[in-house]
Formats: sequence, structure tokens, C-alpha cells
Amino acid sequence: MPTIPYRGRFAPSPTGPLHFGSLVTALASFLEARTSNGCWLVRIEDLDPLRESQSATTRILASLDAHELHSDEPVRFQSDRREAYLAAIEQLRAQQQAYPCTCSRKELREHPEHTETCRQRAPVLPGTPHAIRFALQEQTFSWSDQLLGPQTLAIRAGVDDPVILRKEGFVAYQLAVVVDDIDQNISHVVRGSDLLDTTGQQQQIYRALNAPLPSWLHIPVILNSSGQKLSKQTHAPALDDCQPAHNLVRALAALGQNPPPTLRQSPVSTVLAWAVEHWQRDHVPRQPHQEQPAPTLRN
Ligand code: GLU
Repeated sequence: MPTIPYRGRFAPSPTGPLHFGSLVTALASFLEARTSNGCWLVRIEDLDPLRESQSATTRILASLDAHELHSDEPVRFQSDRREAYLAAIEQLRAQQQAYPCTCSRKELREHPEHTETCRQRAPVLPGTPHAIRFALQEQTFSWSDQLLGPQTLAIRAGVDDPVILRKEGFVAYQLAVVVDDIDQNISHVVRGSDLLDTTGQQQQIYRALNAPLPSWLHIPVILNSSGQKLSKQTHAPALDDCQPAHNLVRALAALGQNPPPTLRQSPVSTVLAWAVEHWQRDHVPRQPHQEQPAPTLRN
């Protein structure tokens, strides 16, 4: 059987600069691609101008450059891809797999089972503000995560139907991520385990768009000292781009690799070469965890 060429990606949303947790995910996806002789792409998921900024995009790309994590193809920006997303939404609507929902936040809170009504509602009148939801099918989805092993998710149709086009007119993550992963022929998705639960909904969108499923590998998220995921909301500090080798060695340690402490004094290219040569997926921790103190340098 012909093997499918490996194509991976790192796809940050520019809600803030990269922090240590995002570097860990970026590095894991980069190393998985490199050790599979694959391509590694960067995609900026800038779908929501209310939460995201151009300055965050600029900083993320500068950080990736400083850590020599270079995309093998021109960086893709989701803000350039609206037409492709709208075409996919049209296709889903034509297939009766997406429907308009005019419910307000209040109605959604009071009637979480609203979707049965929405799914059967007559077409909304032009000019009526509405979101578009993907009509999930009731399903128990089982797959094997490349790191976490066998997974099973119960998908509750109706209750969970994800919004794919928001009332404000913005395309939503669940749709855009699948449309772009299909369009860019992404064969392997490596991302944070906070997104594990979205896999069940996303695989239904793949199938509705008649595309083969990728493999998934979810990297357990890094926690701060209060046990919260490092993120903008939990005030994770931005990466210091002036010490990329040091950051990469810390990220390798967080990924369960065993980098020699002296590596942090080497050029970034040497750190990455060491990482590619020694990458052991089996050593990556399976649970969310805090960063361990760095190995000390002995003189
Ligand atoms: N853009 C998403 C985020 O920053 C990641 C999407 C994905 O890897 O599937 O959380």
C-alpha cells in the first residue's frame, strides 16, 4: 500500500505571545514531523478579531523564528481563507448537515435542548441574525491517539451541535481547523490535550466533507504552580526569545526527553539536531504536568 506523506502543523490562535506550553506543543509537532521525514507547517488561526491581534501574530512568528522552528511552506493565515470556509458551510447546508440557529444566549441557557427545534425550523428570514451549527450525529467514536492510546468519546447530537459560523459573522474554530487540515493535506495532527474532546466533533466534519481522517497525537498540557493550564488567561509569561536554546532544552525536558544540561549553551541548530536524533515519543508524559526544575549545570 502506498504510504501517505507525513504532513504536520502547528496552528496557534494569536490571542497572545507564545508561552512555554505552546513551545512544548510546537516542538513536539516539529519533532514528530522531522523524525518521520515529513513536512511541518505553521498556520495562524486568526479567526476572531475581537480576541486576537496583529501584534500577537507578529510576536508568535518572531518567537518561532528565534527558536528556528521554520515552516516548510509559506505560513497560512486563516483570515485569508474565508471564502473556502463559506463554501464548506454551503456544502454542509446543502447536505442538510448544518442549520441556522437564531437562539439568544439566554434561550440557550434556558433550553439547552433547543437544537431539536432549530434543526426543524423553517428557513430563517433574510436579515435575521443567526449562527450556523453543524448537525452532529449521535455516536460513540473510538480511535487510537498516537500518544494516549485508545480513546472513546460519546457524541451527544443536538445538545452539543457546534457553532461553525457565529452570529457576528466570524467562522468558528471547529470548521476552519478541519477545512484547512483537509486543504493542506495534514496527515498528522499534534496538539495540546486540552483539544482532545474536540476530536469527536471534528471527525464528523471530516466525514461530512468526505475527507479521510488524520492521525491525532495529543500532548499533555503544562500546568502552572496552581495546577492551571499555562495560557493567556492564567497569565503565562511570554517566552524570552533571547534565550531560545535554554527554552528548547526546558521544553525537551518537559517532553520527557533527557537533554544533557550543557546543551543549553549550544547554538539552537545543535539543540534541534540533538532533539531530532534522540526523540522518543514513548518518553512523553501522558498526564498534564508541571514543569520540573531544570537540570543543573555541573562545572
Ligand atoms: N488554534 C488552536 C489553539 O491555538 C489549535 C488548533 C489545533 O491544533 O487543532 O488552541
